[in-house]
Amino acid sequence: TSGHLRHVESMAQLPSGAGRISHLNAVVLGESLASEEHDLVFPSPEFSSQALLSSPEHGFWSEIAKEFYWKKGWGDGPIVEQNLDVRKGTVKIEWFKGATTNICYNALDRIIGRGDGNKIALYWEGNEPGHDAKLTYNELLEKVCQLANYLKDIGVKKGDAVVIYLPMLMELPIAMLACARIGAVHSVVFAGFSAESLAQRILDCRPKVIITCNAVRRGPKVIHLKDISDAALLECVNNGVSVGVCLTYENQSAMKKEATKWVEGRDIWWQDVTPKYPTTCAVEWVDAEDSLFLLYTSGSTGKPKGVLHTTGGYMVYTATTFKYAFDYKPSDIYWCTADCGWITGHSYVTYGPFLNGASVLVFEGAPNYPDAGRCWDIVDKYKVTLFYTAPTLVRSLMREKTEYVTRASRKSLRVLGSVGEPINPSAWRWFFNVVGDSRCPISDTWWQTETGGFMITPLPGAWPQKPGSATFPFFGVQPVIVDEKGNEIGGECSGYLCIKSSWPGAFRTLYGDHERYETTYFKPFPGYYFTGDGCSRDGDGYHWLTGRVDDVINVSGHRIGTAEVESALVSHPQCAEAAVGIYAFVTLIDGVPYSQELRQSLVLAVRSQIGAFAAPDKIHWAPGLPKTRSGKIMRRILRKIASRQLDELGDISTLADPSVVDQLIALTDS
Ligand code: ATP
Ligand code: MG
Repeated sequence: TSGHLRHVESMAQLPSGAGRISHLNAVVLGESLASEEHDLVFPSPEFSSQALLSSPEHGFWSEIAKEFYWKKGWGDGPIVEQNLDVRKGTVKIEWFKGATTNICYNALDRIIGRGDGNKIALYWEGNEPGHDAKLTYNELLEKVCQLANYLKDIGVKKGDAVVIYLPMLMELPIAMLACARIGAVHSVVFAGFSAESLAQRILDCRPKVIITCNAVRRGPKVIHLKDISDAALLECVNNGVSVGVCLTYENQSAMKKEATKWVEGRDIWWQDVTPKYPTTCAVEWVDAEDSLFLLYTSGSTGKPKGVLHTTGGYMVYTATTFKYAFDYKPSDIYWCTADCGWITGHSYVTYGPFLNGASVLVFEGAPNYPDAGRCWDIVDKYKVTLFYTAPTLVRSLMREKTEYVTRASRKSLRVLGSVGEPINPSAWRWFFNVVGDSRCPISDTWWQTETGGFMITPLPGAWPQKPGSATFPFFGVQPVIVDEKGNEIGGECSGYLCIKSSWPGAFRTLYGDHERYETTYFKPFPGYYFTGDGCSRDGDGYHWLTGRVDDVINVSGHRIGTAEVESALVSHPQCAEAAVGIYAFVTLIDGVPYSQELRQSLVLAVRSQIGAFAAPDKIHWAPGLPKTRSGKIMRRILRKIASRQLDELGDISTLADPSVVDQLIALTDS
């Protein structure tokens, strides 16, 4: 029956409540359990093709896709072509291929066309309270068109890359939509990344233009983005890549034009050029499978991975997931605290919400500035109804006095959302009880840069939640849990989370490296997309994400996810947040003296190559490391030294040179 199993995930069966779903999952997931009582009886293709609701491969996604504007339709053929099985050849995922559309047109012109031109598309709240702005759908379209016309004028064409290095100004979504309008492929680089990270991304995708701003204020700090861009562009020139234009937005509240360093001939002020262009701009119709954007994930090993998303499937998927996972209504005011530098800001600040004609709030500042109540003040100011954030923000605000929350009424709130890592049950409860006054469901959305949109998520009105569980798969998504050998495990279990069969929002390749795409995601468990995450499923069929399997530390032979340790710590009534941090033992080149400056420059090296979040918390000088005779570092001993459990060092006689242990202990507080 395995060939038929995928037909089972039919929409008709999905929204009918948790109990039913878990039964369905047990059947779908537990192929190996197939027995007579689990026999699946499928609708005929003839029946499916005319049914109101049918399986993803049949009518379901094409019915939804009809809500959008397509210049040319996808005809009568199958809407999806896919091979996820490396054993059967190249991995390929294509949705609506041959159809043409434009996502900017669907997000703006289509919304205006249905009569919402004067509705607010964007509310913008600056770093300083009281500094704000807004744009209607009409105004947003005009700004997008002016920039699109400028980009076309300087020679940006369909398929060209454009790097966007901007903070959360309105100009960031404007720039994304302008690229999409002309078929250019945007690659947004988070404005917290270093010059080196920016350069690496520019070198990989070779844009014609980079769009940045001179500086930004975040909390009390000013960050000089133009200086960072300059350094990155110089680094690129040194590597033989020169970017023709650096379009720079003058962010007056942070820095004046005059103070900005300038490279004549390359640098152009945004405000000098865009007003000169027409406020309408013809749309570039693109194939559903033409590239929409590249977004680099951090890439825990080696060079960052350029995750490539295409147009048609991504459009349909982000819009639909947004609508159902947040129970979106036209009267909603939606605020997602994520930066557009991450996937969440692509799918759920920009595309998903605008495709629904939503009013979206964009916040430039920091959640604890000027104080820890800023978020809730903003919720009241704009009457935010849907608030989507990350567990780390919840945990950091939960540490503060409750009055910061309760001084705001928050009565507009309807649905809360969480993304980015597992939300530990105690943070979930605080979010639910304190922020949401125990009346707003929480959509704990599990998904990835690679998946484009939500994969496992509550449908807030449809089924009961469990604090800390992302609950059930979205329409048509087929998660499976496999063991080390890649066998699907049924029922209550835990293992590696994989996805069987594609969904419209899936990424299509890693830019310029399809082989790495296959190796990283499809080879570990042939036949499946491997998410890299661990997951368990409880007796009711609820999914519990346990974090990345490579974030696993091996403690005395037990594999433990850092997320699990953090969650256990945070479950302590007196602990607000925990991070299992980085403690580095560092050996210097012979003869180099140890110094405080060196310690700082080592930390800086990590910050600039990876980012501030990865900076080691502690550097411990290590003239030598405890190694076995075969050269393996004995981390067990290092951990004991780091935690000062010196009487638990255990047997050190097997070390190649046991005297290094005494040396390290002597240097503990140096
Ligand atoms: P990289 O892949 O480059 O190392 P990353 O995985 O952190 O970076 P993202 O794609 O932004 O980059 O994050 C996706 C990951 O975040 C998921 O694989 C998962 O580990 C975690 N995650 C996201 N949402 C949730 C959630 N609701 N519950 C649990 N984990 C989540
Ligand atoms: Mg990842």
